[in-house]
Amino acid sequence: MAAVAPSFEALLRTHSEEHLARLEAWRGRQGNLDADTFVAPGSVEAAHLGAGGSMAMVDELMSGSADFGLALVRPPGHHATRDRSMGFCLLNNAAVAANQARLRGAKRVAIVDWDVHHGNGTQDIFWDDPSVLYASVHQAPLFPGTGLVTEVGGPHAEGTTVNVPLEAGSDDGAYRNAFERVLLPILADFRPDFLIVSAGFDASYRDPLAQMAVTPAGFGWLARALDEVHTGDSPRKTMYVLEGGYDLVGLEESLLASLHGARGARFDPAPSNDPGLMIGSAVRSLKSHWSCLER
Ligand SMILES: [Zn+2]
Repeated sequence: MAAVAPSFEALLRTHSEEHLARLEAWRGRQGNLDADTFVAPGSVEAAHLGAGGSMAMVDELMSGSADFGLALVRPPGHHATRDRSMGFCLLNNAAVAANQARLRGAKRVAIVDWDVHHGNGTQDIFWDDPSVLYASVHQAPLFPGTGLVTEVGGPHAEGTTVNVPLEAGSDDGAYRNAFERVLLPILADFRPDFLIVSAGFDASYRDPLAQMAVTPAGFGWLARALDEVHTGDSPRKTMYVLEGGYDLVGLEESLLASLHGARGARFDPAPSNDPGLMIGSAVRSLKSHWSCLER
């Protein structure tokens, strides 16, 4: 399905008018928006098509019989906040998709972000919104520096921001621990009727921008685990949105394994020696909001 640029009004559900106007001024030009974020003459159009493609995927899932979709978009989106571009991201595709799903009738949207960087932009946009759960597993310390276990959401939405930072070198087993001990129980409790995976593949063992050690089998396991979470009786829609990934072989093999996992293929990554200390501190931060984590 081809992407179509969304209307200005549609993007205003996610981004501020000032941000959209500032971005518009870069259309057809090239330069640096900040130290990490540059644009080429086609970047603004690509970002609009990425956001529009993500919205179209939601529309297709909400109105059609398919229950799974993948938005293969560039540039990535999860660092873009309501008000600014950053970290290679111009518009927040996952957040645009979540807002579209809500508009189309989804009651509870969960965004699982396994990109190796924390999705500060997505967290920012849904910080105080209890209808959208944002859950991230990311390397720490690393850009952008947010995603502490103590960041759990605003006063109306405490517990619906979930952060599990992991140390550099974390492998398939460490990610599996984070999912089994934190993300999967919370998802089962939250019962999303629309699940968005911010699918970055820069936690790949091959990636040059981070230091994680996730193999394709690891990604496949994570994807299958998300597919198997029981989230109540209403049929759930699942949509993957591409985020980062800076080694093309790592990106391809990890994405492929994820798609197989999401459709039921079984993966059996090696267990970990990781003691899970950071996972334990995430559990302590979140257990007053999620009784499923108490033990
Ligand atoms: Zn990333």
